[in-house]
Amino acid sequence: MSDSSPQLKDRIALITGATSGIGLGIARALAAQGCHVGINGSRPEQEIAPLCDDIAGAFGVRCVPLSADMSDPQAITAMAAAAAQALGPVDILVNNAGIQHVAPIDTFPAEMWDRLIAVNLSSVFHASRAVLPGMKARGWGRIVNIASAHGLVASPFKSAYVAAKHGMVGFTKVTALETATDGITCNAICPGYVWTPLVEKQIPDQAKSHGMSEEEVIDQVILAPQPNRKFASVEEIGALTVFLCSAAGASITGASLPVDGGWTAR
Ligand code: NAD
Repeated sequence: MSDSSPQLKDRIALITGATSGIGLGIARALAAQGCHVGINGSRPEQEIAPLCDDIAGAFGVRCVPLSADMSDPQAITAMAAAAAQALGPVDILVNNAGIQHVAPIDTFPAEMWDRLIAVNLSSVFHASRAVLPGMKARGWGRIVNIASAHGLVASPFKSAYVAAKHGMVGFTKVTALETATDGITCNAICPGYVWTPLVEKQIPDQAKSHGMSEEEVIDQVILAPQPNRKFASVEEIGALTVFLCSAAGASITGASLPVDGGWTAR
């Protein structure tokens, strides 16, 4: 805690989809700066609570579990209210929850399209809408949207995901313009492949379907578009989130920041 940012100490941060991977990494990075954190996930709160105990114990901050399905607008509004009631008004919102489905457009299940757009894109609107009035009233706020390299470029078979992430980048710009004189910034982080349980779990299946070793899948399939041939880490995404929320990030707003080893430079 000795190197915590004065700007971030005792701020209230709400992170969606924070029970694993990037969201959990961001929650830990903000808690390390002295933020009190609300950890959203779709699992019941008693299952999220041990993660909160861990964060509270490690960083000496308050941490609350917030169960809400991010495809449900009413649940999102209720979650934002519950975060404010448990911790105080939300200063920092990180829209991170996301799902993926891979299929050609002509066989893409319509209900999966609707669900993916709801979780990955519409939730960003509903959560931002819930916290912006308080941020404006207090004259300070940070919204960080975890988009993707797929918010900037496309890949085949990921129509809903690419549409949602491009939408998130556009929504980030509008949020930034609407709040530019309110002490609020809104930015999108656009990771390439990040080493998370989500990616790790795909590797044995991909190896089977491609008839390759797991090492070959990592090198020739997963990291093929990423010129530095390396996964980004959740710690890197957490550190950039902290920077965007710090005093040094005050003039960065409406930006889409790739963390993709050069993927979108091509
Ligand atoms: P992950 O599966 O570990 O995390 C996703 C999180 O979203 C989990 O906590 C999950 O519980 C939550 N979530 C999913 N559906 C939800 C719902 N309906 N309600 C509430 N929470 C829900 O994956 P991750 O790799 O950490 O991904 C986090 C974000 O980063 C996603 O938006 C993803 O699109 C984005 N991203 C990931 C990568 C990568 O390579 N891992 C790259 C670019 C962008």
